[in-house]
Amino acid sequence: MAALVQSFTQRSSRLGSVLRNRSILCSSHPLERQGRNSARHIHARATEYLQNNDVDLTDSQRTVRDAISKICSQYTDEYWLKQEEIKKFPAEFHRTLAQDGWLGICMPQQYGGSELGIAEAAVMMQTISESGGGMTAASAVHMNIFGLEPVVKFGTDEQKKRWLEPLVAGKERACFGVTEPNTGLDTLKLQSQAKKNGDHEYILSGQKIWISTAQNAQKILILVRTTPLDQVQKPSQGLSLFYTDINPSVVEITEIPKMGRAAVDTNTLFFDDWRVPASDMVGKENEGFKMIMHGMNAERILIGAEALGLGYAALRKAAIYAGERIVFGRAIGKNQAIQHPLADSWMKLEAARLMLYHAARMYDQGYAAGEYANAAKYLAAEAAFESCERAVMTHGGMGYAKEYHVERYLREVFIPRIAPVSREMICNYIGERVLGLPRSY
Ligand SMILES: Cc1cc2nc3c(=O)[nH]c(=O)nc-3n(C[C@H](O)[C@H](O)[C@H](O)COP(=O)(O)OP(=O)(O)OC[C@H]3O[C@@H](n4cnc5c(N)ncnc54)[C@H](O)[C@@H]3O)c2cc1C
Repeated sequence: MAALVQSFTQRSSRLGSVLRNRSILCSSHPLERQGRNSARHIHARATEYLQNNDVDLTDSQRTVRDAISKICSQYTDEYWLKQEEIKKFPAEFHRTLAQDGWLGICMPQQYGGSELGIAEAAVMMQTISESGGGMTAASAVHMNIFGLEPVVKFGTDEQKKRWLEPLVAGKERACFGVTEPNTGLDTLKLQSQAKKNGDHEYILSGQKIWISTAQNAQKILILVRTTPLDQVQKPSQGLSLFYTDINPSVVEITEIPKMGRAAVDTNTLFFDDWRVPASDMVGKENEGFKMIMHGMNAERILIGAEALGLGYAALRKAAIYAGERIVFGRAIGKNQAIQHPLADSWMKLEAARLMLYHAARMYDQGYAAGEYANAAKYLAAEAAFESCERAVMTHGGMGYAKEYHVERYLREVFIPRIAPVSREMICNYIGERVLGLPRSY
């Protein structure tokens, strides 16, 4: 930690002065520090725009929250509504975060990043979503924040320089290609193949589905089979990972019309005879699944944080509306049937938040098992869904009107419930790994 802090404070920070407080991470527990030991102040109400005095944030998390809030305040509710209407990728939002160095929050400093932890990246993603940008804003940068972790961990120095620097600088965007139409969550059975052609290239063929941002990305991190399933000892063997240019002449990309997040595309990909340089393979041949697994807990934590943000955004809108809307001569928020579900949602979001940041802290300390990351993603997505639904109902008819934004949140909040892993598969994981119950599938 000391080396990290020292190098952090020495770096020529493209995040400006924003993150220099990282060194404070070494100070005492936040709750013991002056001014933090009091109860939640009245100005910390959930109706505040991105209130920033959760007593349990570290100083570096608080600094991230402050800085990201400022950036996001330039991107109003109307901006996100408009992007949704015109189905346009929020390129300027992506650019702003890149310019200020935020896309490299978890990346090595050597390649332009800041080397902060998942605990800080989770604050960043929660704040982006909570600002009202929701899953649209989060998904516009999500892949770039931690998606290339397999490259960071297993790539060569040459690859890292070639790939991480343009990603951090916002010059290139990446998408992630794992899911396939015929196999779904049964990832190990995926059917896309790469066949070696001489020493210098592989030929890829197959299909992928639900690949977000493929229309706007230049690169893809793609998992394909290099050794047929019937020739490996375990199904997790024989898969390989490539990070390569999306070649539009051989990769057919078709957008999937979908329920929400219209500004950020999601697509099917068909490819045949796609020649990919062998130098674009990440790590060793046939070990791709192990590498993908490496970043999965972190991804669940980040998606959970994005869900939380949406839940708080919805709750804020609902609480403000409930305080202002007068029916039968009084604010609707005076009715316990309106007030109590919102109070209940705040408690559930906070409980999920505690689990999520606990998981993030453990991840940053090197804990590799997945129960907390999975549970946190599950709880955050469910709490956020309930909060969004209640926000719509609190608004009555206006909850159904686009100009009040909560219907957009409700449509978007399904995403973290489904992806990157479903509720059911998380329950399978907990049942099997934590409770020791027999595998059910
Ligand atoms: C908006 C959006 C963006 C996405 N972006 C990406 C992306 O960028 N890259 C990418 O690779 N993928 C992406 N995905 C795909 C996503 O990760 C998958 O949709 C998700 O993993 C579920 O897989 P599936 O849709 O094939 O569901 P299926 O595998 O078909 O499962 C369908 C349902 O059956 C349940 N089920 C299946 N097996 C079991 C079992 N054994 N026990 C209990 N229940 C079971 C599942 O939980 C689910 O509810 C995205 C999806 C969405 C909706």
